[in-house]
Amino acid sequence: MPVPHPKPGSPDGGERPGPVLTIGAAGRPDRPSGDRLPGGSGPPRHLADLDPQERRAAAEQLGERRFRADQLSRHYFARLTDDPGDMTDVPAAARGTLAAALLPRLLTAERELSCDQGQTRKTLWRALDGAYVESVLMRYPGRVTMCVSSQAGCGMACPFCATGQAGLTRNLSAAEIVTQVVAGARALARGEVPGGPGRVSNVVFMGMGEPLANYSRVLAAVRRITDPVPDGLGISRRAVTVSTVGLVPAIGRLAAERLPVRLAVSLHAPDDALRDELVPVNRRWKVAQVLDAAWAYADATGRRVSVEYALIRDINDQAWRAEALADLLSGHLAHVNLIPLNPTPGSKWTASDPEVMREFEERLALRGIPVTVRDTRGTEIDGACGQLAAAGRPGVPGAGAGGTGIPAGGPGR
Ligand code: SAH
Repeated sequence: MPVPHPKPGSPDGGERPGPVLTIGAAGRPDRPSGDRLPGGSGPPRHLADLDPQERRAAAEQLGERRFRADQLSRHYFARLTDDPGDMTDVPAAARGTLAAALLPRLLTAERELSCDQGQTRKTLWRALDGAYVESVLMRYPGRVTMCVSSQAGCGMACPFCATGQAGLTRNLSAAEIVTQVVAGARALARGEVPGGPGRVSNVVFMGMGEPLANYSRVLAAVRRITDPVPDGLGISRRAVTVSTVGLVPAIGRLAAERLPVRLAVSLHAPDDALRDELVPVNRRWKVAQVLDAAWAYADATGRRVSVEYALIRDINDQAWRAEALADLLSGHLAHVNLIPLNPTPGSKWTASDPEVMREFEERLALRGIPVTVRDTRGTEIDGACGQLAAAGRPGVPGAGAGGTGIPAGGPGR
C-alpha cells in the first residue's frame, strides 16, 4: 500500500512557511519558545507566549509599569477576557498600548459545530495568516476536556488520519494553542455550554498536528495552561495529555522536564512491518525504541503511559496482534485505549467489527493489560479522532486534511 512519507531527515515533516520548528537528532528544537520569528513572519507575540518575567519586561519596554503585566495576566488567565474595555483597573491610555502589543486576537472562530446536546463543540479557527485549525470541547459528567491543535496540518502522514493527508502548514505559537483553551474556558464560565457554568478540567494535545514536532511552543503552552492563576490557567498538570506518533528524542526531552503530564503514544501496531505503513515515522524510530522511550517516561514521571490503538478492520485487529501487543506491554506502566477507526473521506479502511474489537480487548484484559474502548464523540460533526480537517476548506464539513484524535471516553480518566 503506498504510504506518503514524512520528508527525509525531518521528523516534523519538511518544509513549510511560518513559525516552523525542527527537532534535531538530539531532540532539541532550533529555537527557544516565546521569541519572535526572524523577519517578523508568523503570529504576533502574545501575552501567552511569555512567562511572567518576560511579560513584565515586555510591559517595561512599552513604557509601562512592570505590574501592569500582572494585571493583564489576571484579565486574560483569571477573568478570561482580552477586551481592553473590561480592564478598568488599568488607565485607559495604558490599556490600549498593552492590549495592542500583548493581546492581539490570534484566532477567529470561523465556524462552530455541536452535537451530543451541545456537550461536544468543535470550533474551526482562522489564524491571522489564514491558516485553519480546529479544537473540540467535550463535556462529560464531572469533567470537561479540551482537545487542542498544536500545528496547522501535520507532517506525520499517517494514512488513516485526515490531518496527515494534506501535510503540515505550520507550527502554532504557544499563544495560539493556549487561546483554544481560553476560548473553551470562557464559553464554560459564561454558561454557554449546556450543563451550567463550568471549567476546563483536562487538555489533550490530540487535535491537529504532532505536538512533539513543535516542542518548545507546546511546552510553553503546557506551562501557561498549568501555571497557577493568574500566571496561567491553573489546570492540573496531571490532567494534560501530550499525544505523539513516537518522536523518540523529544519523548526523552519531555521526560527530563519532570512535568507530570500524561504521555500518549499512538502505536496502532505491535510490529514494525505494519507500523511502518500506519505511522510512517516508524521507519525512523521503531516500535521497540518508542516503547523504551515511553517506559523511561513512565519511570521519570510515575505516570502510566496511554497506548493509543485505532482498530482498523482486517489491518491491525487480528488476535495474534492483540497477543503481540500484550507481550510488549506486559509488566509496564501502560494503559491501552482502543479507538474504533473513524473512517476519513476517501479511505478504504473502516473500523473493526464490534465482535472483533471485543475479542481484541478481552485478549489484552486476560493478559492483565488495563484497556478501554473509547466511545468516540463528535463523529457527526467530523470532530472525532482523525477527522479534524480544517485545512483550507472552511465551508465544507469534513473536507480537507485535518486529522486528530478526539478522546471521547479518553484521557482525563
Ligand atoms: N499527532 C499526535 C496527536 C494527534 S492524533 C498523535 O499521532 O498522537 C490523536 C490520536 O488520534 C492519535 O492516536 C491518532 O493516531 C488517532 N487517530 C488519527 N486518525 C484517526 C482515525 N481516523 N480514527 C481513529 N483514530 C485516529
